Amino acid sequence: MLTVSGGKLKKFQYFKEGYLAPIDGTQTFTSKSISCKNCCTKNADNPKKTTVYYHQLSAICLVKPGLKTVLPLMPEPITQQKDASKNDCEVRALERILEGLAREHYHLKLVLGLDGLYSKGPTLKLVRSYGHHFIAVAKDTDHKALLESVEDLDREGKVQRFTYTDKRGHRHSFHYVNGVPLNKSHPDFIVNYVNYVETDPDGKVKYFNSWVTSLPIHNHMCCMKIMRGGRARWLIENETLNTLKNLGYSLEHNFGHGEDNLSSNLTCLMFLAFLIDQIISGSGLALCIRFSKLR
Ligand SMILES: [Zn+2]
Repeated sequence: MLTVSGGKLKKFQYFKEGYLAPIDGTQTFTSKSISCKNCCTKNADNPKKTTVYYHQLSAICLVKPGLKTVLPLMPEPITQQKDASKNDCEVRALERILEGLAREHYHLKLVLGLDGLYSKGPTLKLVRSYGHHFIAVAKDTDHKALLESVEDLDREGKVQRFTYTDKRGHRHSFHYVNGVPLNKSHPDFIVNYVNYVETDPDGKVKYFNSWVTSLPIHNHMCCMKIMRGGRARWLIENETLNTLKNLGYSLEHNFGHGEDNLSSNLTCLMFLAFLIDQIISGSGLALCIRFSKLR
């Protein structure tokens, strides 16, 4: 686990409940001929159904909206797990990330930025059980019961709405409500809901999304802050994973696969190099770095 300390993280404070930390998964290796015993496998999409070997990982970074520097924590390889009958996946990787954070950073509280893959009862409950908060994408198609509850609350006049126009003429429209059951399977798990649409001066939709969050939405300002926290997922999609893949690090290049953990260890070392680059480019950051868990 990568450890950051030194009291220099105030620059990254955004929510008082914890540091904003989006998580995203990506593929780092795929081959039909090279493999190790930790490779996940799938069948190729061709008539012969050739076996394809692959590795993925879940990346997690401390970020702050408006700040280009990101601080990656130890990524979690998504590889074949011991005694597992199925391939490893991002949700299982998140469980290991949470375990690792509790072990290595027991004092560190986070607001996890999650995509729709994670916005399910068991996963979000697990996040809360570790004392972290979440802002998770809530796709309409996955959350019909949630939307029905929001509509019920809207009829009762409990849903708040507001719109503002920025200097570029873009309109930002919100509606939000606190205290909605996540779904029918978990009626006891109560979340808060934000819907957001950005349109340009011609009325064209530039961005829209909905989130469920464990953060309380006290007012319009609070709602805007949560929206910015949710949109900060691009900091891991673009500033982190795109940089690592396409801007010099060659994350997906096979520098050597090995028989056990070489591939995963090289990937983790690449994240360590990226972290050092980020520290150097982010002026004023002086962090103590410890790197372990190389297997
Ligand atoms: Zn492998």
